[in-house]
Amino acid sequence: MSEYADPYIHYYLHGRISSFVVKKPLILGHECSGEIVEVGRDVSRLEVGQRVVIEPEFVCEKCPYCRSGRYNLCRNVKFYGTPPFNDLRGICITVSEQKVQPDSR
Ligand SMILES: [Zn+2]
Repeated sequence: MSEYADPYIHYYLHGRISSFVVKKPLILGHECSGEIVEVGRDVSRLEVGQRVVIEPEFVCEKCPYCRSGRYNLCRNVKFYGTPPFNDLRGICITVSEQKVQPDSR
């Protein structure tokens, strides 16, 4: 299997991806959506009640990749829906404005 295959196939078949090991039941999938319940004072393009989709990764925001805007290459990235994170249903999370896209309706 290619190392570039869908990561969730690795979880299903092998119970792990590199150092991310499934140790308890895991809801597969890291894409998430929700509704804004609060915004920070510097947030300008989002408002309370707006439906949004959320980029599912945490990055360090300190490495050269993050500082240059190429955070998709951050070596410290962690994803929602990948151990140790699981099941975002019904919880509140805090994310930066750049990681949120409004519903197109
Ligand atoms: Zn980084």
